[in-house]
Amino acid sequence: MLNRAKIHDCVIIVGSGAGGASLAWRLASLGRKVLLLEQGGFLRPPRRAGKVGRFILEVHGERAKPLHYVGGQTKFYGAALYRFRESDFKAVEHENGVSPAWPLSYADLEPYYVEAESLYRVHGAESGDPFEPPRTSPYPFPPIEHSKVVETMVARLARRGVPTAAIPRGIDRQTGGSCVLCADCDAHFCSADAKMDAEIAALRPALATGRVELRTHTEAVQVLTEEGGRRVMGVRVRRDGVEEVLYGDRVVVCAGLPGTAQLLRRSANSQHPTGLGDGGALGKYLAGHSTGMLFPIVGLTRTAAAHTKSFAIQQWYEGAPDWPYPTGVIQMAGQMPFWEEVTGPMRHIAYALGTRSLTAFHMTEALPTAQSGLIFEGNEIIGREEPVHNLATFRRLRRLGLKAFSRAGYPTVARKRPPYLWHDVGTARMGHDPATSVVDPDLQVHGVSGLYVVDASVLPSAGAVNTGLTIIALAFRLGDHIAGAASASPDRMVAAA
Ligand SMILES: Cc1cc2nc3c(=O)[nH]c(=O)nc-3n(C[C@H](O)[C@H](O)[C@H](O)COP(=O)(O)OP(=O)(O)OC[C@H]3O[C@@H](n4cnc5c(N)ncnc54)[C@H](O)[C@@H]3O)c2cc1C
Ligand code: SF4
Repeated sequence: MLNRAKIHDCVIIVGSGAGGASLAWRLASLGRKVLLLEQGGFLRPPRRAGKVGRFILEVHGERAKPLHYVGGQTKFYGAALYRFRESDFKAVEHENGVSPAWPLSYADLEPYYVEAESLYRVHGAESGDPFEPPRTSPYPFPPIEHSKVVETMVARLARRGVPTAAIPRGIDRQTGGSCVLCADCDAHFCSADAKMDAEIAALRPALATGRVELRTHTEAVQVLTEEGGRRVMGVRVRRDGVEEVLYGDRVVVCAGLPGTAQLLRRSANSQHPTGLGDGGALGKYLAGHSTGMLFPIVGLTRTAAAHTKSFAIQQWYEGAPDWPYPTGVIQMAGQMPFWEEVTGPMRHIAYALGTRSLTAFHMTEALPTAQSGLIFEGNEIIGREEPVHNLATFRRLRRLGLKAFSRAGYPTVARKRPPYLWHDVGTARMGHDPATSVVDPDLQVHGVSGLYVVDASVLPSAGAVNTGLTIIALAFRLGDHIAGAASASPDRMVAAA
């Protein structure tokens, strides 16, 4: 059965993650009506006595599956909300290639970063990070406090000449806020609704305006274009096995990775036979962070539960002693029962290590290429071609971290394994050239007027800091563009909210 519905004067958004929910809020606060389609439902695992966070595997099962929930991946993210550094927008030489220049500069996004930090209640400080970009306003809230075990670590690192910086965190920790700084945050769902994820920070206030209609369990199966294929005319959706066509002349795809590239591919037409906006770049130019883990051991007995995601070592971001290339960051994580992913006898070792150490990530930029990305068979994704990992740099940063923690008095274990790809971006990247990008700098799909994309897939590169705040800032910028607003104006936005 196929229903048809005309959506009047309404922007249709596909996907309610960082990009989609933030855009919905921005448009609604500018007076525009929004229809937000989300394939998943609300995530509401029951709270266990005394425990705020619930680990990703416990709630979700197999991690490789996409996180189809209202709020998308942010329901489990660590809420480390960084601005990209100024250099991340420029062409930068790395060990194995060049990180591409963006068609935007840091200055173009700065006003939107200000508003993104405000909506997502970012707690941070400029000190300790030599690469913190220039700001037109301070962080909305001071940094979160360190737990005792972390405070000791930070002091010992400082005595050894290793400065640390606060991780900017989007959590409800200001006076009267509901965050209790529990031990479980990174990779956990927060049942106190204190994590500023896309649902809590952006979608709730968006729905409160009365201008946003949210349809959950509704999958967009195809973006529809007018005859000739050059203008969007709506979306075909499926809910409970029933298909419906929703007509609208502004559609924004925010289905994340790999959802956006897949949906654009499924929506091929005569003008775009291999997918909307595909001049050869759709599904390609995958980039992200080459990530590894360090475990500084803090004692011989089990560590007490504590919030540990409060500092990072940023000083080698653009290079290190005897190393000419950007190395990236070392960032503390929350306490995660990662041993639950380990099978066999190694599980006991992982458990012993995990409960006696803190967990830190080290992240180095992985570079996009014309080959890296999704491998399709028809419209199905059957694999992934990795971006270029700068492996010698990745190992160099791991060694720098090992040395820093060890010299500070913490024997440190690091698994020598290939990097994980985290915080992946690309596959519908922005650029001027339709042969090497999918959307233009205004985020409109090349050759299809009225169709836009904003989510992780439009980022041309990932830098080496977390990508969420940049996705949110881009969504705000796109909201202004669609609504015809002249520029970001914090006063107007606060008043509208
Ligand atoms: C464990 C974990 C920790 C992280 N920690 C951080 C962190 O601390 N800081 C940070 O900046 N980033 C972090 N990230 C990464 C960050 O969460 C993501 O980069 C970001 O949330 C991606 O946002 P997005 O807009 O691309 O959409 P996504 O989160 O990918 O959401 C896309 C949404 O679209 C929906 N969708 C997909 N296809 C369709 C369709 N056809 N029809 C309808 N709906 C559809 C999905 O269900 C989903 O809700 C973390 C990620 C994970 C998994
Ligand atoms: S630290 Fe705060 S935001 Fe994070 S899970 Fe705990 S209560 Fe929620």
